[in-house]
Amino acid sequence: MADRRAPRTPHLAVVGAGPAGLAAALAAAARGVRVTLLDAAPQAGGQFHRRPAEALGARRPQALHHAWSTAERLREGLEAHVRAGSVRHLTEHHVWCAEPGPGTGFTVHALRGPEQREPAEVCADALVLATGGYEKVLPFPGWTLPGVVTAGGAQAMLKGTLAVSGGTAVVAGTGPLLLPVAAGLAAAGVTVAALVESAAPKALLRRAPVWAAQPAKLAEGAGYAAALLRHRVPVLTRHTVVEAHGTGRLEAVTVAALDAGGHVRPGTARRVPCATLAIGHGMLPQTDLADTLGCRLDGLAVHVDTEQRTDVPGVWAAGETTGIGGAGLSLAEGHIAGRSAAARLHGTRPDPAAWARAARARDRGRAFAAALDTVYAPPAHWTEQVTDDTTVCRCEEVTAGAVREAVADLGAGDVRTVKLLTRAGMGWCQGRMCAPAVAGLTGCALTPSHRPFARPVPLGVLARQPDHRDDMSHPTGKETG
Ligand SMILES: Cc1cc2nc3c(=O)[nH]c(=O)nc-3n(C[C@H](O)[C@H](O)[C@H](O)COP(=O)(O)OP(=O)(O)OC[C@H]3O[C@@H](n4cnc5c(N)ncnc54)[C@H](O)[C@@H]3O)c2cc1C
Repeated sequence: MADRRAPRTPHLAVVGAGPAGLAAALAAAARGVRVTLLDAAPQAGGQFHRRPAEALGARRPQALHHAWSTAERLREGLEAHVRAGSVRHLTEHHVWCAEPGPGTGFTVHALRGPEQREPAEVCADALVLATGGYEKVLPFPGWTLPGVVTAGGAQAMLKGTLAVSGGTAVVAGTGPLLLPVAAGLAAAGVTVAALVESAAPKALLRRAPVWAAQPAKLAEGAGYAAALLRHRVPVLTRHTVVEAHGTGRLEAVTVAALDAGGHVRPGTARRVPCATLAIGHGMLPQTDLADTLGCRLDGLAVHVDTEQRTDVPGVWAAGETTGIGGAGLSLAEGHIAGRSAAARLHGTRPDPAAWARAARARDRGRAFAAALDTVYAPPAHWTEQVTDDTTVCRCEEVTAGAVREAVADLGAGDVRTVKLLTRAGMGWCQGRMCAPAVAGLTGCALTPSHRPFARPVPLGVLARQPDHRDDMSHPTGKETG
């Protein structure tokens, strides 16, 4: 007798509910795939579309966003699929590992809740990794003072909690993220005493073909420039913060001009009083889950093909985990990943012509990101400002002097050897924060760190792992595909 059972609906797990993960989830769900979308955050949106906590009852949540209609479209699409049962959205699920099995599928291990205490597992046929990026911050004397925050952190606090720290702020470092951060703080009533950019972004304006292909970016940039003018925010390019001052908390920063070679120009230092310093030196891709699964990395980003597939069968990657490039690029990559995954999970051949528009957006986004990379960079000689007593690894309280000693006296030539000799990078963040600084002080290139766990995991959870695998009805919430 013929088997009349309906074919099993394939199951895709998407890690990360930012623009890339949302686009992937919606594209796959619209094509008959059952999707589980996991994210550490309490709401979908990722970094770019971060919303105020619902309990705050914000009356105009769109006030701090410049792509609100896209955020709304994604949110409504997600809600519709959740209602229809095609997407399950697991918020506050901190994924610490993904591994092959059982069978040909994958198991995603997470810790649930704000306290990250309850284990949960999701088994799926395939994975899309859309874990985004994180901020790079380089040390300087005084950077550990209360009141010094990352640029994205200041923005996340503003967008997520509608709170600002301190009445006067300096926004500093390098990269396009400084513009929305300064504009957002000023719009929220903070006096932004200066936007201090170490690069010379005017060089970008001369690249007409890049802008011609991205008119929306030109409009976005012009919007920030207008907002900064309106709020009378002084913009200092080719300047850097060399020191933060304060007794107990931040009171002022010293800002100085840079010469063409990236050295501080003598005699240009001046003090700017401020209660907050929001500082960032660019972004780095978040690649831990992909790396643990054995996916190839190109430099610091996950390698993908034109369908956004990694070189591990069944694993796709999209958004800033594959390279830093902005929300538009993440959306395009996520859409392609979702469509490709759906086609392959249904056993059909994906038709790239069907996502030609997204592919064009991806090409334009990558070209724009490459152009930004040629312009924005920390000062070439930033280490000259880092005094020996400056803390470099905040978790293990390792100073720049200790790193320099490991290099000069003990012969360390790479970040790993410095870590073994000084403990820099051995703490809670596992070097996510200090690795760029240690690499710079060591004089070596930053290479990916291999971290088997994407998040800290209690030993008890690890100890119970084999029991989970044997017991499909375990109360910790094992879900099968
Ligand atoms: C703090 C910050 C602020 C930013 N602000 C702006 C801005 O104002 N304007 C702008 O143009 N660009 C901004 N960017 C850049 C912007 O984030 C990206 O362009 C865009 O959001 C990238 O989309 P994505 O989907 O690739 O990643 P993201 O938006 O970063 O989304 C990744 C998601 O994955 C989740 N995640 C990561 N790891 C795990 C894990 N192990 N377990 C569970 N969930 C996980 C995160 O919680 C997050 O929701 C910002 C970036 C950062 C880091």
